[in-house]
Amino acid sequence: MVIVIKKNATEEQIIEITNRLEDYGFDVHRSDGRQRTILGAIGVQHDFDTRKIKIMDGVADVYRITAPYKLASRSFQREDTQITIKDVVISSEKINMISGPCSIENEDQMFTLAETVAKSGAKILRGGAYKPRTSPYSFQGLGEEGLKLIRKAADEFGLIVITEILQIDQIDALTKYADILQVGARNMQNFALLKEIGKTRTPVMLKRGLSARIEEFLMSAEYVLANGNKEVFLCERGIRTFETMTRNTFDLSAIPVVHEKSHLPIFADPSHATGLRSQVPPMARAAVAAGADGLMIEIHNEPEKALSDGPQALLPDEYLDLMDELRMIAKAIGKEFA
Ligand code: PEP
Ligand code: MN
Repeated sequence: MVIVIKKNATEEQIIEITNRLEDYGFDVHRSDGRQRTILGAIGVQHDFDTRKIKIMDGVADVYRITAPYKLASRSFQREDTQITIKDVVISSEKINMISGPCSIENEDQMFTLAETVAKSGAKILRGGAYKPRTSPYSFQGLGEEGLKLIRKAADEFGLIVITEILQIDQIDALTKYADILQVGARNMQNFALLKEIGKTRTPVMLKRGLSARIEEFLMSAEYVLANGNKEVFLCERGIRTFETMTRNTFDLSAIPVVHEKSHLPIFADPSHATGLRSQVPPMARAAVAAGADGLMIEIHNEPEKALSDGPQALLPDEYLDLMDELRMIAKAIGKEFA
């Protein structure tokens, strides 16, 4: 249920309304927008008579949110979410680029690629220290040693760090070294993990599950939001279909659909979506044209030797050229890169 507060309502009235909702057994989430304040009353009470709240001083309107996700929906928050992390702002205003290798492999590789990322103007360095590999015999990541390397490389070049979390007991180590936690496709519906991340205040990028519908994707974001962490953004990374010419099928339409249904920023990952170096630039261009709030692109200085995802990694020069093209596309639709 959404309670729209009157423009001239006093803080006392808002507190009174909040307390009343809590007395009725609701969990209350407040959103102070530029235009209006909204209270989201969460809790299943199908027969609740909304008039009990509608008559209170300071209430402009009360209505039910029909979507199964509440806090993630545009009805709860009309303005786009903005997430500030050090000097980086993730929002619909400017496009942010996340780039780096699939896996953190060694100091040389991390420093070479961090330098390329900084040179491209991007501000966010990626690299996995804990890798969710389909085969248990594939490289599983360097663990904490890798986290130290990516932090060192990011600090050297003035970048912030995003890295993937696989399980709850990694929260402490990861929040020590990383600025943004990435929840990967394979963990999108790991609700226990989402709840625990929801209790932290570390920003999180949630990737779409391999076979998740957009509604399920938003419900997963809801798990984090409902537990108190509002710093959530999404990433479309392709879904599994009958097509085998690409690694996954890039669902470009998820970008405008998420923008319509939710206030959360949505990024696109053309690297995992296609799995092929030659397909990454065209899909990156398409994602910018479709209005993505950011992109994630994997790069590698020696892709043939990469310990994971070499075939989809762009070489540093290819990546720098692509960035120039993407800037032009952004400009054509009235946007720019951060
Ligand atoms: C990744 O970004 O390295 C990754 C494993 O992606 P996904 O979870 O989308 O497969
Ligand atoms: Mn990868």
